[in-house]
Amino acid sequence: MDARVKSAGAGKNSRKPPYIIPMRPHDLLLPAPAGLCCQPGGFHIDPVRPVERAVITHGHSDHARPGHGAVLATQETLDMMRLRYGDNFAGRTQAIAYGEELRLGDVTIKFHPAGHVLGSAQIAVSCKDTCIVASGDYKDAPDPTCAPFEVVPCDVFITEATFGLPVFRHGNAADEVKKLLASVALFPERAHLVGAYSLGKAQRVIALLRLAGYDAPIYLHGAMEQITSYYQSRGVALGELRPVKGVKKADLAGTITLAPPSATSDIWTRRFPDPVTAFASGWMRVRARARQRGVELPLVISDHADWDGLTATISATGAGEIWVTHGQEDALVHWCQTRGLAARPLALVGYGDEDEHEQESDKTAADEAAAETGA
Ligand SMILES: [Zn+2]
Repeated sequence: MDARVKSAGAGKNSRKPPYIIPMRPHDLLLPAPAGLCCQPGGFHIDPVRPVERAVITHGHSDHARPGHGAVLATQETLDMMRLRYGDNFAGRTQAIAYGEELRLGDVTIKFHPAGHVLGSAQIAVSCKDTCIVASGDYKDAPDPTCAPFEVVPCDVFITEATFGLPVFRHGNAADEVKKLLASVALFPERAHLVGAYSLGKAQRVIALLRLAGYDAPIYLHGAMEQITSYYQSRGVALGELRPVKGVKKADLAGTITLAPPSATSDIWTRRFPDPVTAFASGWMRVRARARQRGVELPLVISDHADWDGLTATISATGAGEIWVTHGQEDALVHWCQTRGLAARPLALVGYGDEDEHEQESDKTAADEAAAETGA
């Protein structure tokens, strides 16, 4: 028996009749220039180039791109793509629910919640006795705006590694929101401007503010209005939200406004009275990164699993083989190998943070983090 398809989590291989030749994981999913390709199923997962059939994990622009012949995704991901790219973002679309199974060619696929943003999914691809889970972006931390991450037992687990270094420990997002509220209480004459990615992070910060008891209106940069009202239309409670456009400067004292990260460092901020600039991101663990961006109030709130989340999830899946992609692959591959797991980096390109302005220096941030901690 091929040791690579054995796993405690899947468990079923031990009873497999010896005359059935197990499918090798690479026959099922293979890195290709367009993205992860499933030849027996005739589709790509999160393709970065236009393909005939795409299966998409979530709505962030580095995973969900326009121009495919057909797209299979959750209803929320399809809706977000429609909002961003217009009605003709794909030739055909099909919605699939969490837990629903679908036959594509010779394989079966099933979507499971990834806990990353609204509608985000891990995709389990099974053929014969082999199951590979492509988790896309994920987090195991609680998030009031999306379905919680589900551990899916599998033979091969494909994990992201955005924060794949031991220095990245995100802590409790609710505590970070308390810091923001303490600052608002301390500086009632100043506006608070919170940089956050438009899809997912902004809505999570708003929901966390509401959970912390903050019930004043929250102001939104124009770029966030559409996606935020979409969240509300899907039943995510966000309280009273107002567009910041047209509001008098003096009236913004003591208020909180959410804006895309790029907006918090440009001329747009002049409409706010003496703004306190905050930024909600896992990268805010790196003090040099916060300083370099001119962030006065760094908030360590991430929609990606931190080091403990990544390693705990890898263990929980029971997978005997781990493929590591987009981020800090090396440390996570090493961690897997020291635990006797077959692991390797997956050469996939084109994935990074949602906001293009953030993509340039992930490696730099990791170096900075290592320098700060002596790691
Ligand atoms: Zn994402």
